[in-house]
Amino acid sequence: MSLKINLRHLEEKDLHVQGKLPAPDLELDDDDELVRARLPLHYDLTVHQAGRDVLVRGRLEMGLDCECARCLKPFRFRLKIPDWLLHLPAEGPEKAVVEEEVVDLTPYLREAILLEFPQHPLCHSDCAGLPKRAEASSQKTEGSGAMPEASAWAELNKLKF
Ligand SMILES: [Zn+2]
Repeated sequence: MSLKINLRHLEEKDLHVQGKLPAPDLELDDDDELVRARLPLHYDLTVHQAGRDVLVRGRLEMGLDCECARCLKPFRFRLKIPDWLLHLPAEGPEKAVVEEEVVDLTPYLREAILLEFPQHPLCHSDCAGLPKRAEASSQKTEGSGAMPEASAWAELNKLKF
């Protein structure tokens, strides 16, 4: 399956395409052990003809199965591109590949999604990682009084005000 646009349909009015594309059809690399793309890509796009060029604009959304890089907990990452903009020129080195007036948007979608892949997926931005028991107990004996979590919250509070 792919997302193909027939340019002939654009001559009179903009085209609105909405739907989903199965993850395997995007041929996203599966090398990354921390990020797995198994769920379909949802798209909601408007295709507009500007002279001989084509403009695509809209929303892309895809759920990714990730593993936290710090604590290894699996979590669902929602990849969202709320205002994706693609310019497909009719001429030049970036010229769109058009076959029988049909342009395939799939490779462009693939590229857009790959650019937004989390490089360092975290279950929460303040994930403390795996519990380190040895460290926690040594801190207690030192008698610092403050737990690591408490100080993290204190830092957050400072940021808020
Ligand atoms: Zn985590």
